[in-house]
Amino acid sequence: MSTPDPAYRPATLLVHGGTMRSQWQETCEALFLTSGFVYDSAEQAEATFKNEIAHYQYSRFSNPTVAMLEQRLAAIEGAESCQMTATGMAAVHAGLLAGLKTGDRVVAARALFGSCHWIVSTLLPRYGIETEFVDGRDLGAWRAALSRPAQVVLLESPSNPMLEIIDLPAVAALAHEAGAQVVVDNVFATPLLQRPLEFGADIVVYSCTKHIDGQGRVLGGAVLGRRAWIDDVVFPFIRNTGPSISPFNAWVLLKGMETLALRVEAASASAARLADFLAAQAGITRVWYPTRADHPQRDLARAQMSGGGSMVSFEVAGGKAGAFAFLNALRLVVISNNLGDSKSLATHPATTTHMKIGPEERARLGISDGVIRLSVGLEDPADLEADLTQALARLPRRSAAA
Ligand SMILES: *Cc1c(COP(=O)(O)O)cnc(C)c1O
Repeated sequence: MSTPDPAYRPATLLVHGGTMRSQWQETCEALFLTSGFVYDSAEQAEATFKNEIAHYQYSRFSNPTVAMLEQRLAAIEGAESCQMTATGMAAVHAGLLAGLKTGDRVVAARALFGSCHWIVSTLLPRYGIETEFVDGRDLGAWRAALSRPAQVVLLESPSNPMLEIIDLPAVAALAHEAGAQVVVDNVFATPLLQRPLEFGADIVVYSCTKHIDGQGRVLGGAVLGRRAWIDDVVFPFIRNTGPSISPFNAWVLLKGMETLALRVEAASASAARLADFLAAQAGITRVWYPTRADHPQRDLARAQMSGGGSMVSFEVAGGKAGAFAFLNALRLVVISNNLGDSKSLATHPATTTHMKIGPEERARLGISDGVIRLSVGLEDPADLEADLTQALARLPRRSAAA
């Protein structure tokens, strides 16, 4: 077993963090695609179940490949402990439900991933958990909502798809005064561009399906935080309810982590360049990118993030018709609701990811019918600019009022 020096820098931890070698001394992390484990004797099995010895038991809750990934992710996040799950939603579900009970109260930022919104608005109230949404950018709204006791605060920053930024230290301070743990969905920032635990968050959740795989292959999720909470609250929940990740998917994610820093850096640099490029084009009415000078919360973004990330949102003139014409004219960028991939992906949130929340909630979140969300991949940015240019050139000419 080799635990790397935690003082190693992120690029090193991404390659070596959590590595455990078997007796065969393999270079690449081994894939233990096994559901169970055997014991030398009945006594060893008994001792394992009594927790007297450390021995793998069953891959629903313990597997060496998954353990390597958990340690690597914890190292890069600066968290004491990590539990992997089958999907990002399983991580959000476990991260919230494991510690909540009837009568508790949850305050969440309104700009949440669709399924996270459903858990807060629809699932939790069924179990007698009171929930309230606030505008995540409005500290007064947080202060009012957290003037009463609460158990959990859930937020996403930057948010999907409008890239709103939430003041993590300020919200964490208000949450802690109200007795709440702060859960941050850090998918858009990745562990490389933002480390919410350093800004007062208690729990970080990921959809590893996005940048951590980053090559469109597998689903996965993670919950990270203090050892006592992850090991004593989240682990029993996952062990006994079973939203467990396949060792195969964990192995793919381990390999994804090795290139995460290179991919995030390249995609973020391209995204920043494309944001500036798009802002200068006729036919684009607005661009949102966290660190750009015209982002309303750029100072906050720059204080909390070490880069703007790989996501750019922009509004095409002409509403839904303009957005659809633009998407259909793309040749290199493909239409897909996924994100964080090596391939550039574009989606129309109003008719896909954010269709179910309805027009009123979309209006409240600023998701107009012309908004397109672009997940910037690893293609040469000049080729991406050329594709966006030819798509814009093929947009129908309209009156300015359209
Ligand atoms: C994709 C995503 C999720 C859900 O993750 P899955 O792996 O698809 O279950 C949650 N939050 C955010 C911000 C996401 O982008």
